[in-house]
Amino acid sequence: MERQKIFDNTEVAFQLKSDTELERAHFLFKMISIEPLVKIGTAVTNFAIKANLPVEGLIRSTVFDHFCGGVNEDDCLDIIERMYELGVSSVLDYSVEGKESEAHFDAAMEKTLKIIRFSEEKDSMPIAVFKPTGFGRFHLYQKKGEGKPFTADEQAEWDRVVDRFDKVCRLGKERDVEILIDAEESWMQDAADQLVTEMMRKYNTESTIVYNTLQMYRHDRMDFLKAEHEVAKKEGFLLGYKIVRGAYMEKENDRALEKGYLSPICESKQATDINFNDAVKYILDNLDTISLFAGTHNEESSYLVMDLMQKKNIENADNRVWFGQLFGMSDNISFNLANLGYNVAKYVPFGPVKDVMPYLIRRAEENTSVAGQTGRELMLIKKEKARRKLK
Ligand SMILES: Cc1cc2nc3c(=O)[nH]c(=O)nc-3n(C[C@H](O)[C@H](O)[C@H](O)COP(=O)(O)OP(=O)(O)OC[C@H]3O[C@@H](n4cnc5c(N)ncnc54)[C@H](O)[C@@H]3O)c2cc1C
Repeated sequence: MERQKIFDNTEVAFQLKSDTELERAHFLFKMISIEPLVKIGTAVTNFAIKANLPVEGLIRSTVFDHFCGGVNEDDCLDIIERMYELGVSSVLDYSVEGKESEAHFDAAMEKTLKIIRFSEEKDSMPIAVFKPTGFGRFHLYQKKGEGKPFTADEQAEWDRVVDRFDKVCRLGKERDVEILIDAEESWMQDAADQLVTEMMRKYNTESTIVYNTLQMYRHDRMDFLKAEHEVAKKEGFLLGYKIVRGAYMEKENDRALEKGYLSPICESKQATDINFNDAVKYILDNLDTISLFAGTHNEESSYLVMDLMQKKNIENADNRVWFGQLFGMSDNISFNLANLGYNVAKYVPFGPVKDVMPYLIRRAEENTSVAGQTGRELMLIKKEKARRKLK
């Protein structure tokens, strides 16, 4: 099949969706394509949750069930196994955000350790993931990154963050489960980056276990990648990077404007795209020392990875190259890639409904229509409905 048409196959893309599920997805994406509705919906939902109004059922049967695997790990197992039968692996993602107590950080770490132990037994889950702010306070990362001195209490708190990272990465190494570490806001990311590099230095000795994330909407990330590569080559450890465009653009631009510094975000979408592609090229040129996890819903970027792999005679199933999408999105990319034997993993978020709201809101926002265009998910769903001759 002509390469640029591979992702158009909606039959392969939606083979796990019943007609009813497809109808539900159609309704959902139609709703969230309307920007004012998402804005109002978000405000009303946040208010309703704070006021303890009984809205969980409604959230669950709409956005939650589409974008999340369930409330706990066990809820997700059925869909994980069904996806794996079609060649798509899963990364269970404990998506609770904004909890800042030591008890919550310990609980998030325990969840991640449990998932790693789980992963060891299940071929369908070869990779685990966590967010730096799931393991430590946002402002602590920020203070560390700014080079400000810690109080004795803060130092002890930071030592516990380091310990959580270390426990998870060590178990990943022992059980041969790869660990992806997400990237977040730039003003806390420096400290997280230093810590992740430390983990790579320690655990990526024989194979790549630990992966950091590079948000290529940041114009400084190519320089960062090259600098890290120099260090890793000199010291003899391997690098792993999840390459994404980045999910916090508005927040980044707003803060830069408010505080009067140059925004870390590229000047245009096109500049971000070029930066993303440059990172892909750089990594594939250096695959002996850097592994790639391409986290994207962008078809062009996915085709680029495929084309470069072919040019460089890298096998589709080479374990140093993974593609990743989020559950509930871009099944046309995930299932068609898997069909061709590429390594593909979907993030499968889970957690209590009200605690995964920030995640769900980001998904709704990124699926609102841009300047009146039909969103790509909606377009694909409509195409598949027409193919199945559903009304
Ligand atoms: C498996 C996976 C893991 C992820 N992990 C993370 C993570 O750890 N951290 C994180 O931040 N995000 C993460 N994301 C989300 C990701 O950063 C993007 O928000 C999302 O995937 C959309 O980008 P895209 O490449 O799919 O496609 P596209 O739709 O082509 O790109 C949209 C993106 O382009 C950028 N962009 C849009 N307009 C402009 C503009 N005017 N100027 C500059 N840039 C612009 C923004 O980053 C926007 O999100 C992850 C995504 C996936 C699939």
